[in-house]
Amino acid sequence: MKENELMLTSLLDCERIDLAVKARELTPEQERQFRQMKARRAQGEPVQYIIGKTDFMGIALAVDRRALIPRPETEILVELAVSNGKALRQDGKLNVLDLGTGSGNIAIAMAENISHAQITAVDVSAEALTLAKMNAKTRGVHGRIRFIGEDMSVYLKATSAEARKFNIIISNPPYIPTEELARLPADVRNEPRTALDGGHDGLHFYREILKYAYTVLSPDGLLALEIGDGQRNSIEKIFAQYPQYQRVEFFKDYVQTDRIVMARLSETF
Ligand code: GLN
Repeated sequence: MKENELMLTSLLDCERIDLAVKARELTPEQERQFRQMKARRAQGEPVQYIIGKTDFMGIALAVDRRALIPRPETEILVELAVSNGKALRQDGKLNVLDLGTGSGNIAIAMAENISHAQITAVDVSAEALTLAKMNAKTRGVHGRIRFIGEDMSVYLKATSAEARKFNIIISNPPYIPTEELARLPADVRNEPRTALDGGHDGLHFYREILKYAYTVLSPDGLLALEIGDGQRNSIEKIFAQYPQYQRVEFFKDYVQTDRIVMARLSETF
């Protein structure tokens, strides 16, 4: 749908097909609201924040300034993790760790697509977690998601002392280099900086995740990460520092950019 159509269907609580008739009958109050929405859009606010919702893998999620707007590329990440990971622990519980859950999109989609999954969703932002919890509740999967308000490195470090309990670690971490943040389109600059800022070279969170992931993954576990534009070579180098990982595979997104990396643990580790 075009952006104006998205705003109108949301305002009028109707389907696109009804617009031709309904849009001609806007009340003065609705016209005022529509003008207001268009003004916000003209200021660069993403349409998803204005209408307060988005779709992720067919799941309707509430979104606002508290969290990053889920992107279509991240659906590929979840689909790969589901298709490669759901065979694990079929006779029990599949423990999934989602690092940097934001609106909860990945955690919720994993819960909905893998019925025996039990998710731990970590985010440093308390307000993002409030939104994620609300989304999980709306979707009826909150009973299978444990939310933890902590920096992902702190969480991983603390958990590494425990048994290697996670079967899947999945994350779309912040991956934009700090100095590029100011050059992002206005839409993206409306999103929380914490969800985007990947440190000076954009790779901070990959270093942190790879440093600890093997200590908390089960021996047959799967690591699945979204990566930023042009980061494949650098990320391959980080993986090369850790012989604990093997079968490091990259997957492309809809515009043929390397976007996902998946790895398993080496059998000898
Ligand atoms: N996909 C986002 C963007 O470039 C970035 C999300 C992230 O940093 N993980 O707009």
